[in-house]
Amino acid sequence: MTIPYARQSIAGEDIDAVVEILKSDWLTQGPAIDRFEKALAEYCGVPYGVVFCNATAALHLACLTLGLGPGDRLWTTPNTFVASANCGLYCGAEVDFVDIDPGTYNLSPAALEQKLEKASREGKLPKVLVPVHHSGQSCDMAGIRAVTEKYGVRIVEDASHALGARYQGAMVGSCRNSEMTVFSFHPVKIVTTGEGGAILTKNQDLYERLKLLRTHGITRNSALMSHEPDGGWYYEQIDLGFNYRMTDIQAALGTSQLKKANEFVIRRQQIAGRYDQALAQLPLSVPFQSPDSLSARHLYVIRLHQEKARQTRRHVFDSLRSAGIHANVHYYPVHLQPYYRKMGFKEGDFPQAEKFYSEALSLPMYYGLSEADQETVIGKLHEILT
Ligand SMILES: *Cc1c(COP(=O)(O)O)cnc(C)c1O
Repeated sequence: MTIPYARQSIAGEDIDAVVEILKSDWLTQGPAIDRFEKALAEYCGVPYGVVFCNATAALHLACLTLGLGPGDRLWTTPNTFVASANCGLYCGAEVDFVDIDPGTYNLSPAALEQKLEKASREGKLPKVLVPVHHSGQSCDMAGIRAVTEKYGVRIVEDASHALGARYQGAMVGSCRNSEMTVFSFHPVKIVTTGEGGAILTKNQDLYERLKLLRTHGITRNSALMSHEPDGGWYYEQIDLGFNYRMTDIQAALGTSQLKKANEFVIRRQQIAGRYDQALAQLPLSVPFQSPDSLSARHLYVIRLHQEKARQTRRHVFDSLRSAGIHANVHYYPVHLQPYYRKMGFKEGDFPQAEKFYSEALSLPMYYGLSEADQETVIGKLHEILT
């Protein structure tokens, strides 16, 4: 028996929702897409939602619709999944990173401010910034906005971890401090569609461009065409888009899952609370919880005090693995990936993210984690660390 670090939670009503679509007229490009988009937008308190085949595609189109291209720069955190940075490269832009705050593990507004000042002097300001809400806890978005505003940097929140999270009284996804917010519905995330992603925005122009680019840049809206439609069959390609669509099968699953998002997050909060309390005496740091936010608790990341514990992270990880507990590590800093090292990034470039990586361990955290399984994890950690 193994305990994974994350897994989906699929119930009878989710299965029914999918089966209903399989029996219907539309497997893709049907009404279930619209329903999921509206439900997401309403849940986050924002006018527009667009769903995609995955969050990586969503990040790509978020960057494209903001006009990111060759000669431009995108900045993000090194403490993220590679997709948060790759989206800049897809557009032909240069990618750079801003180190994390050692307290929150999220992109540091102070480091950002310094880097922006320097970039401004050198004429190398970024066009787009992608802050990532690591583990499900919002970045200090007010701080980030305060330091980016005067430079006109556009902000895309990568909230792949943070569906159901709150920040300063609003849902993450409400785009109070950003142009767009991206969610992922991969099975390890808060709610799932198998594969899937979304962008939420307040901006109608961005919304319309996102929908256009999601489907090849093709329109059936005669107002956008260069000449009168030849007939009812007629469409025009007016831009170079992609097929980044989600299926109706996935959207129906998403709508069904989204109804349980709050319940999922509440349960994750309870699991986190139990870990916080049970691990307090061990040589490790439990995750920081900012008083002005509610984390979606996608991940529960401890930082090991390896000297005090006289154990390496590697040893703790391996010991958990051999006990059937599949802990994980989030993340190997993106700038140290071989593909990024080829661009000149190296060890020491972002010391806080590198230190975090050397100590971090993601413990099992998911809606269906039983009390007994959580006690097994806690017991094993005590055994290894004392
Ligand atoms: C999962 C994840 C993504 C990519 O999501 P997909 O839906 O798998 O493409 C991007 N950014 C972060 C921070 C993620 O955790």
